[in-house]
Formats: sequence, structure tokens, C-alpha cells
Amino acid sequence: MLNTDPTTRNAVDSPYISTEHRIWQPLSAKLKKKLPQQVFQIFFADTKVEMQKEDLVLIAPSPEIAKHIQTQYLKTIQEDALEMGFQGKILAISQKIEKAAPLTNKTAQKPKQGETAYPNRIDLNPNYTFERFIKGPSNEHAYAAAYGAAQKPNSYHNPLYIYGSVGLGKTHLMMAIGNHVATAYPWLKVKYCPSEIFQSDLIEAMREKNLSYFRTRYRSVDVFLLDDVQFISKNADFTQEEIFHTFNYFYQNKKQIVISADRPPQALPQLHDRLQSRFQQGLIVDVKAPNFETRLAILKTKAEEAGMVIPNEVIKYLATRFTTQVRPMESALNTLYFTAQHEKRPIDLQMAKMSLKALPQENGVNHVTIDDILRVVSRTLHVDEALILGVNRTEQVALARHVAMYLAKKLIQGATLSFIASAFGKRDHTTVMHAEQKVRELIDVDPALQMQIDEMLEELKF
Ligand code: ADP
Ligand code: MG
Repeated sequence: MLNTDPTTRNAVDSPYISTEHRIWQPLSAKLKKKLPQQVFQIFFADTKVEMQKEDLVLIAPSPEIAKHIQTQYLKTIQEDALEMGFQGKILAISQKIEKAAPLTNKTAQKPKQGETAYPNRIDLNPNYTFERFIKGPSNEHAYAAAYGAAQKPNSYHNPLYIYGSVGLGKTHLMMAIGNHVATAYPWLKVKYCPSEIFQSDLIEAMREKNLSYFRTRYRSVDVFLLDDVQFISKNADFTQEEIFHTFNYFYQNKKQIVISADRPPQALPQLHDRLQSRFQQGLIVDVKAPNFETRLAILKTKAEEAGMVIPNEVIKYLATRFTTQVRPMESALNTLYFTAQHEKRPIDLQMAKMSLKALPQENGVNHVTIDDILRVVSRTLHVDEALILGVNRTEQVALARHVAMYLAKKLIQGATLSFIASAFGKRDHTTVMHAEQKVRELIDVDPALQMQIDEMLEELKF
């Protein structure tokens, strides 16, 4: 939409402004001068802009408006654009009906008396508390920092930045801060917000020209928990701008801000430099994958919470089976719980092994690494890892190397042939193609190898 809100003028002047707005801003300014204000409002206030290849597309809120722009204004806009040196075409289309902007009515967006002021508020999960968070060497710093922030919000490390891989308890810790503050300091306002929600809320506010309301809503809180900032895309200039300003506001007003991501700020190239440096300003803590003891403790606690009776050997089995994330452990417990109910018998090791075979991968996300593959191949085929990575061409070593490459291609999502080749110290990506081909031929004629590979696949998948 058109940016007519004077409070965002800086955003328009900023070098971070997106291409479409950089082109559209001067064009719309010219147009505004040529048209009566009301006419401009009607036809362009809710019209969004988007680059499609070389062309600038005006997306009108209805087919009628699109048609009117096409017949009445496109020519003059195109001429102005040419004058400005813009080579692409200017097009006007209509937004899809289901996505059409609701009638612009600022007051309709505001909560009525008694209504919540946070239409997009995501409730804090009451189970995500500090009491239910199992501490271990992998997360004790993050725990301590989060607990500190919850006990003394606004005066502890600000911002607090928590990072770590998926499923290691970042959201749990953030919500634990929220839950703690809400109980200990009921007069303080807490807002938990995944970054995608922040972004879509902002887009909505811009479309509705409710930016100042958006800001009041976001800035009226005392503790702001912004989850998963890795999802903010590089091109989301407005979102980055707005987070930057929101951040500054919280920082200057000594309000607590907690941010999470899957990586440290300096490893998020999609973030604009100044946002990155803001995030680096406070305390940065990480959550790592839990060690065996912590995994045992997590499993025991989760099983107890669910009222499950699980033999120790099954808990141990699960703790060996799941090494990188916590969430799949919970899924495994759920699966076991239902299997036991269904089969009307107590949980045992056999049941655990059987029922976990059918357990799908979490979100289809595969976290297998070359190291995992080397470890498993080395153990199964009795070849030293260093040999697999070396140049030795004896039959067994070459087989192990081929199998490792084959598994890497199968299991490491998004890994290209060149990536795998270089991981194995080879320059040429055709080496990997050749290895894959070789393994396929071998398993056709060698059922024993086929079985070994199946076992390795099975082991690596969990
Ligand atoms: P993330 O946000 O890092 O992806 P979550 O906070 O959503 O991970 O955690 C995934 C699941 O694992 C949640 O159900 C959470 O309660 C649980 N979990 C993760 N770490 C722990 C822990 N140390 N103690 C107890 N539960 C945990
Ligand atoms: Mg999370």
C-alpha cells in the first residue's frame, strides 16, 4: 500500500527500502500532485506494489479499481517512470478476491471496550514453566539468564538473546519468562510473538493504515518476547525497520526484550547490519542438544507428567535413540502411550522398538550430518573414518566411501553433489554420482549389503 503515514517517512527515506517502494514512492508523489486528494485516496490508498521481474505491478484492492487505474492513470504513471529512468513496464492488476483488503476503517480495527487489546496475542502455554524445564550442561546458562530476566524484568540483561537448533527449548524458556512475569508481577504486560506474526501484523497494519495503532499495541507492553527471528526475510525491509524501532523503544524505555533464533545474530545474514548489532548488544546465550543424562531426566519427567509407567530400560533406549532434539522424544512417548493403550499391555522394550519404527520424522526435517554418517558407516562396515575420508582404494574402504556418499545424498536435505564431494575431500561432483550408481548396482545383487544399508538408514533417521 501507499505510505502516507508521516511516522514512517524515515522508513521510506531509508536505504533499506524495497525496490518496489523506491520506484513507487516518487511516482506516487508525482501522481498525488496531479490528482485531487480524494481521488488519489480512492484509487491508490489501498493499492500495493510489487516487482515482478523488471516490471512494477500495482495491486489494486478490487477489479474495478484496477480497471480504472489501467484506463485512466497507467499512461501518465508510465511516462513519469520513463522520465525517472525506470525501464520496466507498469501494470495494474486486482488482488485476489479472498485476499481483498477489508474496507479501510481504522476504528473498526480498534478493540471495543472490554475487548482484548491484543487480537493477535498468542497465549502463553501454561506448561512451559521454569519448573518443567530440565536443566543440564547444555542449557543451564540459557536457563539462568531467562530466569534472571523473569525475576527482574526490565533491569536484567537487555536484550536477552537465546539461540539454538529447533526443538531445544527456546520457546519453552521464552514462555517460562512470560508465565513467571505474569504471575509474579501481574501488573506488567507480557507479549509473546513469533516473528512471522509480527511481520503479518505489520503488513496488515500498513494496509489498513493503522501503523500508529500497531505501534501503540506493540509498545504498550513491558516484556516483549520475539521468537524465531531467523524467519524474517532479507527483503522484509519494513519489518526489519519496525523491529529496529521497536527494539530501540524498548531499550530506551528500559523494558525487557527477549529474542530467539536458531543462530547467533552475527550468523543471520538476512538481518540488516544495524539490527544484527542491536541484537548483539545484550546477553547472548545458547541452548545445545542435551547430553545423555539430561535426556534421561527429560524423558522421565515428561513420562511422569503424562502419568506413564515406563521401565528404565525403555527410557534408556529412547535416550540413546534421540540425540539431537527434545520434541521427537515427546512424540515417541506419545506414540508409546497410545500403543500401550491400544494393545492394552504395559510398555516394554519390544513395544518401544516396534512402535518407533512407524514414527515419522519430525516435520520431515533431517538433521543427519556427514559426521553421523561416517560414524555409522565406519561401525557397520568396519572401516576407520579417516580411511573413508582418505584416498585408499582397497575394496572395503572404497565400498565404505561409496556407501557413505550414497547415504549422504539420501539423507542430508538440500545437499548438492558438489557439497557432498567436498565433504569427502573430493573435487569432482561426479565422484558422488558414480558412488551412488555403484551402490545401487551392488545392492541389487547383494542382499546382505542391502540389509546393512537399510539398518544404517534406519539408525540415521532417528
Ligand atoms: P524450540 O523453540 O527451541 O524449537 P521448544 O521450546 O518448542 O523448542 O521445545 C520443544 C519441546 O521440547 C517442548 O515441548 C518443550 O517443552 C520440550 N523441551 C525442550 N527442552 C526441554 C527441557 N530442557 N526440559 C523440558 N522440556 C524441554
Ligand atoms: Mg520455538
